[in-house]
Amino acid sequence: MLSVQNINVYYDKIHALKDISFEVEQGELVAILGANGAGKTTTLRALSGLLKPTSGSIQYLGEDISKQEAHKIVSLGISHSPEGRQIFSRLSVYENLQIGAYIRKKSDNIHKEIEWIYSLFPVLKERESLPAGALSGGEQQMLAIGRALMSKPKLVLLDEPSLGLAPLLVEKIFEVIQTLKDNKITVLLVEQNAYEALKIADRAYVLETGRVKLHGEAKDLLANQEVQKAYLGG
Ligand code: ATP
Repeated sequence: MLSVQNINVYYDKIHALKDISFEVEQGELVAILGANGAGKTTTLRALSGLLKPTSGSIQYLGEDISKQEAHKIVSLGISHSPEGRQIFSRLSVYENLQIGAYIRKKSDNIHKEIEWIYSLFPVLKERESLPAGALSGGEQQMLAIGRALMSKPKLVLLDEPSLGLAPLLVEKIFEVIQTLKDNKITVLLVEQNAYEALKIADRAYVLETGRVKLHGEAKDLLANQEVQKAYLGG
């Protein structure tokens, strides 16, 4: 589905991604792990067209999207749930979800989609008329993921969905990500919580200072001593 080959991304003189390559197959849940500043967020921003690689290619369903505009990339079926959620706090939960459907034609029945999202996150239904800013951190994260799903994506990019959440909510968010996978949605998951991410991922790539340091099956990485030492507190 997605094949990234040797992309380089700069912020002015800072060389943030150095010849990054990775692949995601249809239906896979692939994790990108790494410490602060390793280049995880930059990778997702390059995929969704918010940053342009200076070289390399990003093939998505057979098309090079590395020079495409962000709105075009959304319309091709890639949806990004950004780090820090970025929900509209004064708008209601329902309105935030509606906004996620902005690329869809008016004639589309978005109500069905919203009901599906409420079935994944029943708490959002309970809160649908409240301003999003009144939700807890975990609920806001569910809303951010729900909003990303409103464009009916084929590939969902999730940036640090567990960041800043209490342990119980972290569990819940990973359950939700597992549900996406069970619903055959392809997920590229950026996480600092390497242990939880590796438990649900099929494969993972570990970034270090802008390069792919290691990659493999998630279960092999969980057992890998280098990964345990650096990222799993072992
Ligand atoms: P974090 O978990 O902290 O977001 P990350 O792995 O997602 O870390 P990136 O945010 O992708 O890392 O950052 C990669 C590199 O690019 C870092 O050296 C960072 O300082 C730099 N960087 C990120 N954003 C900018 C920016 N807007 N301007 C300049 N440099 C940046």
